Amino acid sequence: MQRDEVLDRLEKYVKPFRITSGKGFRLKHFDPGDTGGLRLDKSEAVELLDRGTEWLAREQELLYAQDRWSLLLIFQAMDAAGKDSTIKHVMSGINPQGCQVFSFKQPSAEDLDHDFLWRHVKCLPERGQIGIFNRSYYEEVLVVRVHRDTLEEEKLPPQCVSKQIWAERLADMAHFEQYLARQGTMVLKFFLHVSRAEQKKRFLERLDKPEKHWKFAVSDVRERAFWRHYMHAYEEAIRATASKQAPWFVVPADNKWFTRLVVAAAVVQALEGLDLSYPRITAAKQKELNAARAMLAKER
Ligand code: ATP
Ligand code: MG
Repeated sequence: MQRDEVLDRLEKYVKPFRITSGKGFRLKHFDPGDTGGLRLDKSEAVELLDRGTEWLAREQELLYAQDRWSLLLIFQAMDAAGKDSTIKHVMSGINPQGCQVFSFKQPSAEDLDHDFLWRHVKCLPERGQIGIFNRSYYEEVLVVRVHRDTLEEEKLPPQCVSKQIWAERLADMAHFEQYLARQGTMVLKFFLHVSRAEQKKRFLERLDKPEKHWKFAVSDVRERAFWRHYMHAYEEAIRATASKQAPWFVVPADNKWFTRLVVAAAVVQALEGLDLSYPRITAAKQKELNAARAMLAKER
């Protein structure tokens, strides 16, 4: 397959799920069971994913060598949507030196003594690097919104907790992402969209397999009671923060092979769009290289 042909095919998988403007966005328009309507069989998906990960490895090398841009990938989802396995698969071919993953859980006492972005800012990727946030500051308008008592723990002065707190936080996040874009950090945000029925199936599978028990928490099952609240919070978050500079991808997550394909395709495409290249060698550097070659040639 030629380069342009691969890019065209990737675009088919990415376009329907890419949100660059919140206008009119409704989560109900997205089907978690979608497989692109392409009647793509699994083996074809595996082949394309392999091509995608190889490509990603090459692009990452350029990103690293050029040392100008950085890439931040944010993963958000309900439990068992497949965040961990998607990250593992999509990143399987890349050089660990150029990539870091951070998982954000409940904030620590030290975190709570700061503004909510603080702990995330500390983990932003350096130039040339890919940073992955497994959960992120978006939890501040998701779990914190659904469970209002967690907001009480954030030690905010009462004057700072207005009726518009969620809209304010979302506006701050959108501005923050615009700032990052202007600083050369490309932000891609993935919502792995799993259905409630598929989540139940995966929880039951975890209960059936002893090697998966460590991943199981009863609280995850309790959270299912708040499903509608979470979906509402996700919808509002995506609507308020989807932009050209920092798009959301609402990735169907009921079929893991398709989830991986869409995420890999989106990442490859975004890197490809940066038009990365190896840094140009200066005349002085070329002279140095020639001298090194001459020295090696002289060695016995
Ligand atoms: P997995 O279950 O796949 O291992 P996970 O990301 O769900 O991964 P857990 O340790 O189960 O990890 O859960 C982390 C919890 O931390 C989540 O319930 C999440 O909502 C919560 N969390 C993350 N950020 C915040 C935050 N800023 N405030 C409150 N809770 C948060
Ligand atoms: Mg969990």
